[in-house]
Amino acid sequence: MTDMPQLIDPFARAITYLRVSVTDRCDFRCVYCMSENMTFLPKAELLSLEELDRLCTRFVELGIRKLRITGGEPLVRKGIMTYFEAMSRHLASGALDELTLTSNGSQLRRFAQPLADCGVKRINVSLDTLDEQKFKDITRWGRFAQVMDGVDAAQEAGIRIKINAVALKGTNDDEAYKMVEWCGARGFDLTFIEVMPMGEDMGDGLRLDQFWDLKDVRAHLAANWTLTDIPLNTGGPARYVRVEETGQKIGFITPLSHNFCESCNRVRLTCTGQLFMCLGQEDEADLRKVLREGTPAALDKAIHTAIARKPKGHDFDYSRQNVTGTMTRHMSHTGG
Ligand code: SAM
Ligand code: SF4
Repeated sequence: MTDMPQLIDPFARAITYLRVSVTDRCDFRCVYCMSENMTFLPKAELLSLEELDRLCTRFVELGIRKLRITGGEPLVRKGIMTYFEAMSRHLASGALDELTLTSNGSQLRRFAQPLADCGVKRINVSLDTLDEQKFKDITRWGRFAQVMDGVDAAQEAGIRIKINAVALKGTNDDEAYKMVEWCGARGFDLTFIEVMPMGEDMGDGLRLDQFWDLKDVRAHLAANWTLTDIPLNTGGPARYVRVEETGQKIGFITPLSHNFCESCNRVRLTCTGQLFMCLGQEDEADLRKVLREGTPAALDKAIHTAIARKPKGHDFDYSRQNVTGTMTRHMSHTGG
């Protein structure tokens, strides 16, 4: 190990959180994320499991304390448990505080216990609706019962669950109460996410018509319950409230209508080894090339140079008639 300094960006933010997309593939085709006939990357473009281990290990040595694995659907990557097993050694050594993932839940019946055995204590499961038909409409290929079974399996394995629900006007806006109640009854945390203008325009005006401002979601919930702001800052885009009647914590991720950049502590690695310093900017660093062709010192230099380019903030803006600052990149490539 070299004694290079830890990862501090130009705005004095310590970078301690790495999100890693391990595949661009998925067994669902959510309407806001992928087109139905999505073309996936050739396998040679992806970092191998061994390369992912090497790169993430270096990030951990440079001060990353939290790893979140995402995709695509991380649990459809062949051999993915080899990678989780490899990362669990950093939990065991104390170098890493948390190893976690974001999943659509479809494969959890099979993987929940092995994940728990690797030290995974919390999982984010993306679920936008409790209505079987709507679930089919949103995910196109998903099976609701399979996800419910996966969620049960994770709970049986002792893993804490947070449900992430994308707020979609005209689709799940009549279910906000029901989601809160269901999560409360099951002991799950819940976070609502604003739909973001990712991916190519699929003839739907970049989802502007589906955009449901979380201020409105909050007002909708406040009609039934007393919501109190919680001053909880995770360095991420979520703001939290407590439902006084039930004691539940609810998060709101508002990357568009609320700017959260000043406390950003994270960077994102794509499944092809590009490091994105900001979800909302195009700037990236190609770590795959240096990982495959360079020395360990060159890799360190490439990581530090990239962090030195982390921008102050992003440019999404839904507040005008036209969507500006949209990204042609797919969320499944960068990792949500
Ligand atoms: N397949 C996994 C899942 O669905 O949880 C992990 C990857 S997915 C890209 C991560 C998160 O991104 C999900 O919660 C999904 O709802 C969210 N997401 C995808 N496209 C989005 C968009 N256009 N706007 C907001 N959230 C989006
Ligand atoms: Fe797959 Fe997740 Fe994208 Fe849905 S949001 S298509 S589950 S990667």
